[in-house]
Amino acid sequence: MIRFDQVSKRYEGGHEALSQLSFEVAAGEMAFVTGHSGAGKSTLLKLIALIERPSHGQIVVDGQALAKVGRGGIPKLRRRLGMVFQDHRLLMDRTVFANVELPLLIGGIAPAERSRRVRAALEKVGLLSYERQLPDSLSTGEQQRVGIARAIVARPAVLIADEPTGNLDPQLAVEIMGLFAEFQDIGTTVLVASHDLPLIKRMHKRVVVLDHGRLVADIPGEEVL
Ligand code: ADP
Ligand code: ADP
Repeated sequence: MIRFDQVSKRYEGGHEALSQLSFEVAAGEMAFVTGHSGAGKSTLLKLIALIERPSHGQIVVDGQALAKVGRGGIPKLRRRLGMVFQDHRLLMDRTVFANVELPLLIGGIAPAERSRRVRAALEKVGLLSYERQLPDSLSTGEQQRVGIARAIVARPAVLIADEPTGNLDPQLAVEIMGLFAEFQDIGTTVLVASHDLPLIKRMHKRVVVLDHGRLVADIPGEEVL
């Protein structure tokens, strides 16, 4: 579902952010990517989303070799991917409903079906009653849940998240991680970058550890204590 084969990334003028990284996340699996600040977690997710391109190596996402996706193919690839960011990136002048609807508008889904799916996604994250509100009137945790609803509304095969609980207190962080696990339960492949080790340990999911751009450990969920 997600496969990295000897992937390296060197930013222009920079040192190597990822070095010969190889790993695979199976369809329907949930895994964490962790490591110190600067270890390469964000870079790894950006390569999956084609926000950045690797300097070397092969990446396959949902059966698609990314090297074969040109500029014009990026929107189509992104429709198969849900993305969640730490700073949620909501449109603050649009309602919660409109924010979640956005991927479906881009996907050309008919209005009645859009409404049905937006409400299903909002219900999933427990925010159905907030659909007419502006994001400003919501708490940080609620805003993050809107971001998650937006990421999953188009039913992507793969969900990636970059420090999705970075701004949240521990209790809310646990709830958000629980939501990701629920999406795994319905068949979504989930990859979450986080440096919050206590939280990761509670989840008992696979943990891929990066150190200076190299994979230094890959711990199966049942061995995460
Ligand atoms: P993490 O998410 O684990 O903190 P990043 O992937 O953001 O790590 O960064 C990995 C390395 O790549 C760091 O040394 C960082 O400074 C560098 N880096 C990240 N983005 C860029 C960029 N756009 N240009 C140059 N260097 C970058
Ligand atoms: P729907 O009414 O669209 O069938 P469900 O009640 O089955 O929705 O699911 C609620 C929400 O969970 C959906 O809107 C969708 O965002 C998400 N979802 C459900 N199934 C999947 C899936 N297989 N992959 C990704 N997301 C899904």
